[in-house]
Order: sequence, then structure tokens, then C-alpha cells
Amino acid sequence: MRKIIIAGNWKMNNTISQAQDLMAALIKNGGDMHKVEVIVAPPFTALRSVYDILGQSSVHIAAQNLFWEESGAYTGEVSPMMVKETGCKWVIIGHSERRQLFGETNDTVNKRTTAALRIGLKPIVCIGETLEERDSGQTFEVLNRQLEGGLKDLTGENMAKVSIAYEPVWAIGTGKTATSAQAQEAHEKIRAKLASMFPQGVADKVRILYGGSMKPSNALELLSLPDVDGGLVGGASLNAHDFIEIIKAGIKAEQL
Ligand code: PEP
Repeated sequence: MRKIIIAGNWKMNNTISQAQDLMAALIKNGGDMHKVEVIVAPPFTALRSVYDILGQSSVHIAAQNLFWEESGAYTGEVSPMMVKETGCKWVIIGHSERRQLFGETNDTVNKRTTAALRIGLKPIVCIGETLEERDSGQTFEVLNRQLEGGLKDLTGENMAKVSIAYEPVWAIGTGKTATSAQAQEAHEKIRAKLASMFPQGVADKVRILYGGSMKPSNALELLSLPDVDGGLVGGASLNAHDFIEIIKAGIKAEQL
């Protein structure tokens, strides 16, 4: 009932020409990609050319961020309408790199999420604990706080358009992946928390993606877990072969 999402977060990688090469390889070799929901999130500069090259394919594009104001004196920022105009259907919000390096807070996550929904973009809201927080037994307190703050004042109708990415910070770009038990436990608790904030029917509908060193060798195991509804893939999404293998794992998991 929850279609698997495989989303590639390119971070600050790929010029326009590199992006075009990567997308040409994805289209050529991606196979039955329509059986899952495939999303790629290039940097702002490559969004439109990736959109153009994807053409009629089932792959959608996401921005990696947006600002919440509509226009004005916000040098360096990109508005929700500007993002939408590139052809984006999705936007990643609150990635841990933005939280750690660019001062993103639960409050700004909430502003961006609300602005995205207002313009008709589907947010992928990222949450996750640091190693220190996990080791000191605070994981679920942190996740709950991020959900409460980031999703504050959303209606159930809007929440049904949001996906959550659970990305333990200690697993991002480190090669360390959460075990299946750790991932399932976190996803189950996230869904339970959503059910306490929104109607159960909404919590049952929300796709919760796992992110953190997902690769071809661990994707099927993670994507087969009952509360894991997809993957947010960083490093491995920069390599067409690896990304396609993860998409294939998603297609397999979808059929289980
Ligand atoms: C990410 O950037 O969202 C991510 C999960 O990165 P990686 O797959 O490289 O750990």
C-alpha cells in the first residue's frame, strides 16, 4: 500500500554535463523503474537540465532545499516557486548536513515544509540522531522532538503528502549502516509518533525512507523491513550502476 521510493541525494556533486551523463545512463539501463517511485535530487543549477533529459521517464526530480519566503531581499536563497518552476515535484528538507553546517533547526524545517506544501511540492523531511545521542540513549527523544518541531501545525491532509527520511547521522557517508533491527525499531517508533500527532490513517500512509550508507549490498534487506518504505541514497546515487541496483532491490522489495 506504500509504494517504495528510491531517492538519490546528489548533495553538491555533478555539473550540468555530468548530471546529463548520469541521467542518460539511468534512462538507458534503469529497466522497470516505474514499479517504484524514483527521484533524483541534483543541485539547483542542474535541476532544469535534468528535468529536460528525463522527459517522459517515470523519474522525478527533487530540490535539496528551498527558502520559505516568496521573493525579496534574500541573497543566495531560492523560493518555493523557483523550485517548482524547474519541474520539481519533491523537495528534501532538513538534511543533517544542513542542520550541522548551515544552522537548520526544527523551526526552520517547519517553515520550509509549510512553504513547500503551500506551493504544491512534496517534502521529504529528514530526521536522525547523532552517535552521541544514540550512545546516551536519547535517540527516540531526539526523533520525537524533530517530528514535533518540523511538522508543527500541519493538517492531516498535508501530512499525507510528506515523507520522512530517517537518517542516523552516524550512518551518513560513513559506510556504517544501521542494522535491520535498528532501522525497523526507529521506523516503527516514528510511525507511532506520527499516529499520536495525526490520524492513524495518515500515519499508515506516510512513507518513511531509510538513509545512511545504503548500497547495493544492503538495500534489499533494509527495503524489505515492514516500516521501511524506501531509501534516501547519497554516495551510491552518484554511480549509475549502484543506483540502478538499489532501484532493482526496491522493485524486488515491492513485490515481497
Ligand atoms: C544522504 O546524503 O542522505 C545519505 C544518506 O548519504 P550516504 O548514502 O552517502 O550515506
